[in-house]
Amino acid sequence: MEKFQPTRIERGDTSLAIQWKDAYSSELSYRFLREKCPCAHCDAVRLGKDPFHILPSDDFFENLRLVDIQRVGRYAVRLAWSDGHRTGIYTFEFLRELSESTPKTPDVC
Ligand SMILES: [Zn+2]
Repeated sequence: MEKFQPTRIERGDTSLAIQWKDAYSSELSYRFLREKCPCAHCDAVRLGKDPFHILPSDDFFENLRLVDIQRVGRYAVRLAWSDGHRTGIYTFEFLRELSESTPKTPDVC
């Protein structure tokens, strides 16, 4: 869908800024993105299917950095994290959904 096309994706210190074709702009914190990681592994962790997995601490998120963004076809990006995790493929539609589900941070005047 047209509106799910980003025109610009920018990597900030703690968040990812996305400009969309329909002039909407998003800012998604890395912590939030990582918590919503759509890969099968993280999905299993969230659903509690992996009882041996220890949930990440605040420290983990504080040190977490986004090290790379790779374009996947025409519809998604793969995010690579500083802890080596890179199996999460975020479709533009999913990123847009995430943006619209969080309250926008007000612009500082
Ligand atoms: Zn994951």
